[in-house]
Formats: sequence, structure tokens, C-alpha cells
Amino acid sequence: MRPSILFPLFAETRTLGGVGPKLEKLIARVAGPRIVDLIFDLPIGLIDRSYRPRLVDAEEGRIATVTVTVLDHVAPRDRRQPYRIRCSDDTSRIELIYFHAHADYLNRTLPVGSTRVVSGKIERYKDKLQMPHPDHVLASDELGEMPLHEPVYALTEGLPAKPLLKAVRAAVAKVPALPEWDDLAFVKAKGWKPFDVALRATHAPTNERDLALDTAERSRLAYDELLANQLALLLIRRQMRGAKKGRSLKGDGSLKALAVAALPFALTDAQLRVIGEIEADMASPQRMLRLLQGDVGAGKTIIAFLALLGAVESGTQGALMAPTDILSRQHMAALEPFAKAAGIRMALLTGRERSGRDQTLAALARGDIHILVGTHALFSEDVAFADLGLAVVDEQHRFGVHQRMQLQGKGGRPADVLVMTATPIPRTLALTVYGDMDVSRLTGRPPGRKPIDTRTLSVERLDEVIEHLRKAIARGARAYWVCPLVEESEKIDLAAAEERAAMLKRSLGSKVGLVHGRMKGPERDAAMAKFKSGETSILVATTVIEVGVDVPEATIMVVEHAERFGLAQLHQLRGRVGRGQGKSSCLLLYQGPLGETAKARLKTMRDTDDGFVIAEQDLRLRGAGELLGTRQSGMPLFRLADLAAHSDLLAVARDDAQLVLQRDPELQSARGEALRTLLYLFGRDEAVRYLRAG
Ligand code: ADP
Ligand code: MG
Repeated sequence: MRPSILFPLFAETRTLGGVGPKLEKLIARVAGPRIVDLIFDLPIGLIDRSYRPRLVDAEEGRIATVTVTVLDHVAPRDRRQPYRIRCSDDTSRIELIYFHAHADYLNRTLPVGSTRVVSGKIERYKDKLQMPHPDHVLASDELGEMPLHEPVYALTEGLPAKPLLKAVRAAVAKVPALPEWDDLAFVKAKGWKPFDVALRATHAPTNERDLALDTAERSRLAYDELLANQLALLLIRRQMRGAKKGRSLKGDGSLKALAVAALPFALTDAQLRVIGEIEADMASPQRMLRLLQGDVGAGKTIIAFLALLGAVESGTQGALMAPTDILSRQHMAALEPFAKAAGIRMALLTGRERSGRDQTLAALARGDIHILVGTHALFSEDVAFADLGLAVVDEQHRFGVHQRMQLQGKGGRPADVLVMTATPIPRTLALTVYGDMDVSRLTGRPPGRKPIDTRTLSVERLDEVIEHLRKAIARGARAYWVCPLVEESEKIDLAAAEERAAMLKRSLGSKVGLVHGRMKGPERDAAMAKFKSGETSILVATTVIEVGVDVPEATIMVVEHAERFGLAQLHQLRGRVGRGQGKSSCLLLYQGPLGETAKARLKTMRDTDDGFVIAEQDLRLRGAGELLGTRQSGMPLFRLADLAAHSDLLAVARDDAQLVLQRDPELQSARGEALRTLLYLFGRDEAVRYLRAG
């Protein structure tokens, strides 16, 4: 149970004075529903009210705090006019401007003849100083109540700064002194203050420097969040791998041998090494939770298939899940010959299989289907395996962590899990997101691949690109042409893709196809099939081809508006070519002028094709949230830590968490108790449940 010391922090924000239902909703949107969410909502800026000029010196455009005497009120003649209050000091005059004002209120707060301290932005209108809607109006003896430095928090539409600020202040005031959960010697060496002190300081910046990610205060907060994350992951991992829960899947190699004999190529050393790692893990009595990272085209699919055969050899079933229809169909098509060679039964189940679905499900439940391939439809309630031994999840970044868990619950006993990602993830991220898993890295690519010639060109050179394509197609080449799809303007982008397809058709003849995300499945499959068979030689696409599509004959990738894509996406797209024997090229067309980040991205694409290098760079340029697509899934990974800035702290937190669990596996020492509080503070309740009661 959550320790009582944390109760005040887990109350809902509406229990704070001044927070009503409307404000609560808005706060929930920027921070979250509870007080603890507010205290983790750190300032993104700072208003300095310490500038206190005489009126004659007051600089336009600055936030100033001035002491004035109220001369008179000028009520507006109609609603469109502002209410004006004329004021002066010994040196000059200023008008306070209020639109839609309540005269009563202003007469009370700014009575004629009174002296007031007002703070706000100085503006000038036809030679007259003005301050529209001062942020603060105080009697001179109340000056102490106005902080000279005001933190600024991220807002959302309809949420004014002031009430949010008040709410955060009230929330932060509720943070009690908490037991120290960090190693005392470490805290001392770092010169860190206790958690509550550091938190308060972070909410009270007095200069820009205080907002930096590397202050002692912010570092402490980041460390604690990372430590909670690492500790939780280790506990989850320990739980999931628990010896009694797993089982040993030791195949006799017979099916694998049949499949391998049917392969048109020899497995690479790297593939053999990874297969070995997976086999050993499956054979161990502990449950497998393994992440297979490997670049686009590195040859992960066959590894997955052999692992699945291993599960079938040991009398269980396997599941292979892909993020899209296209991909699962492709997996099915690519693997079917080898399934046949091995003499096992493989079936497809996606959201689109209406007819035959019941039979498939029944056969699956009987155990007659050995390997089921499909999309997230495999997660749905009515899919039951006779005995699922291994689940392989392809292209993990499309699946949420939650789904990963769900899958693990399928079948009677927990299945071994192999997650494959074609977006190599930086080490730091792998540690925070997949810290509960073991990692296999498939390095290199199958032999015979030539490097892809990557160029960046301004879209103004479109004509040259089309000429280049014309010649290439005449030689029998096949090309992708990708137009970006931005969600907010899906229609417009779709139109752009359609128009581009039409334009290419006009200048290059009729061998142009189009595939986009709004197409119905069969229509899309048909377009893909035509491209695969060579009936069309140019495939204009929105980003639906981003993941996994395999047409080895395609050797040219044109990406339009390349500046709009992230690095990981560009890398994925480029990975669609260079899969066959021909020499491949990638043309990144950009629309200038380019910002710094876009420039850096395009340069990285020219400089390297190593997915691991690109991933590190992507993290640096974009930040962790976007890299993982957590924005969309609505789960911020970290609120206090920044993986790019605090990666060294992450490594320490990992070591620390490991050491702690070695010494105090059930967190029962004094520090262990404090660490439980830390876990609860960061919402890792689930992990605490895996501990023996304290
Ligand atoms: P990814 O890692 O992106 O899933 P795939 O498994 O789709 O890559 O493999 C890409 C291509 O390389 C496929 O056409 C596959 O048949 C081929 N391939 C895989 N392993 C080898 C190998 N050892 N030698 C030659 N080609 C291979
Ligand atoms: Mg793949």
C-alpha cells in the first residue's frame, strides 16, 4: 500500500484551494489529475519582475514593476473601448488598460488617489506609456507578497497562467520531507539536497541558469525518477522471469533443419549468433523476454521464424505479430514456403479476415495451427491458443508497452517473448524502455548489399530528379516516391500525393502506382502487388510503406519534403531499398529554407547508414518522447529526467538499482523502505507489488 506520507500528493488537484472542476480539467491536460502531477510539472521559463524603473526610464517591451499614484479612471464609451486608468510617478505618466473591465472591481483595487505597485509589460501607444492588463496590482505594503521571480509553466488553450501558477505553488507546498532513498555517500558527493528541497528550488528559479537541466537540484530530481524507473524494471523483470513461471522450450532442431535446408541463402554469422542466444534463452527454465534490435533489412524475419519453429518443435505454438496488415501478409507470404518445407501449419489472422476467422480460431484452440501470423488482432479477447510457447512481436515501436504485457498474458502459461525492432534504439533508451528485457543486437546486413548512395537536393531540382528516374526506369529500375503525411492535414497531403502521382504519370508514362493510408486493405494490397511484380515501376506512397515492406527489386527511394521526417523515419524509408542485388540510391528532396535540426538530420543521413549511430543522433536532436512515439500514445516517459542530458545519471541509476536488489532483494532495510516510497511516488505501484510485504 502507498505509504501515508504520500497521501497528500496523490489527492486530486481539485482538492487544492482555487481549483474548481473547470481548472482541474485544464490542469489535467498539461500535467495530470493529481497533485503529484503538478509538482512534477516543472517550469519552462521565468518572468523576472525585479526590473523596477522610474516611469521616465521604463523600457518598452519589458516586464516592469512600477510604483504609481492613481490619478483618475476613464470609463469606455462603448464595449469595444478599453477601460483606462491614468497613473503617474514623479517622473512621468502611464495608463493601465483593461478590456472588458468590471468598473467596480477596478475602483476597489485601484481607487483614485491611492499608491499602487503594478507589474506587467510596458508598452507604448502614440507616445504614451501603457500597461495592458497588469499581472499584479498591490498596495505598496503588499509588495513582499509578489515574488520578483515567477516561474512560467507550459499552458494549454483556455488555461491562464495565473491560476496554474497558484495551483502549482499550492501543490509544491504539500510536498513533505521524505525519507532519503538515495545512497547517503552518493548524495553527499554530489552535493545534493533532499528531494523536497530540490523540488521546491526547481520550482523557484531566479535566473535562466536555474532552469538548466544540469543544476544540482534538477539532477537530483532526474536521478530519482531514473532510479525509480530502473528499480521498477528490474523488479518486473525478476517477476516475469521467475523460475517457476517459465518453462524450457528445447527443440530437437528437426523442423529448423528442414527450413534452413530450404533457404536460398546461408545464414550470416551474426544471424547464427543471435539464433544461438535465443535458443539458449528459450531452453532455460526462465521465461524469455528478449529484444532483438537490428537494422532495417538486417534479416530478422528468418531469425524469428526459426525461433518459432523451435517452439513448435517443443510441442507448443508460436505467434508472429506485425504492426500492419501489409506487413503481416508479407511475413506470411515470405515464410510460407519454409513452413511448408518444415511441414507445419501456419495461418494468418488480421482485422480483415472475416470469413474463415472462426475456423482459424477453432483450429488454433485445438492446436492444429502451429504458427499464427497477424496484426494486433491477435490481442483480441477471442483469440485463444492451445498452448502458446513463443510470441514474436515485430516492429515493437508501433506497439505500446501495455500491449506487450497483454500478449504475455495469453495462453495458459506465460509465453516466451521476443520483441524485434527495426529502429535501433540508443542504449540509454533501451535501458529505460526495455530494461526488463535482455537484448540481442543483429549487426551488419546480409552479404551482397551495396551501400546506398544518399543525396540531398532542393525540391527546385525536381526536373532533374524526374529525368534521372526516366532513365533508370528505362533500364528496368523500380522506385518508391514518398510524400509525407502529416496527421493534421491528412487530406491536403493525400491530395499532394495524388497530384504527384498524376504528375509523374504525365511525364513518365503510365507505370505509376499510388498507395496511401486511407486505402482499403485489398486496394492497397493490389497496388503493392503491382509494384512487386513490376507492373508499375514507380510507387508513390504516403508513409504506409515506412515499416518493413520488402520489394528487393526497388533500388530508388525518393523522399519528398524530407525535412519533415524524423531521422528514424528517414532511415526506415531508406532501408526499403538496397535489399536486392542492384545498386541503390536515396534522394532526399527538401524544401528550403532548412532549420538547424533539419539540416543536421539530412547531414546525418548522408554521413552514415548505421542505424545505431542514427538512433543516437535522433535522440540528441529530438528527445526521447518523440523518438518513442510516446507523445501519440499519451505516456510521457519521464517528467523530470531528460535522457539526452541525463544519460550518465541513468547508468548510475541502473548500477545502483542492481546493487540495491542484490543486497536487499525485498527492499526491507531502512533504505529499502525509503525506496518503496520512491517507487510509489513515481507511480510504480505495480513493481512494489512484486515485493514481499514490508
Ligand atoms: P528485417 O531485419 O528488416 O526484418 P528481413 O528479415 O526482411 O529484414 O530481411 C531482408 C531481406 O534479406 C529478405 O529478403 C531476406 O530474405 C534476406 N535475407 C535474410 N537473411 C539473409 C542472408 N543470410 N543472406 C541473404 N539474404 C538474406
Ligand atoms: Mg522485418
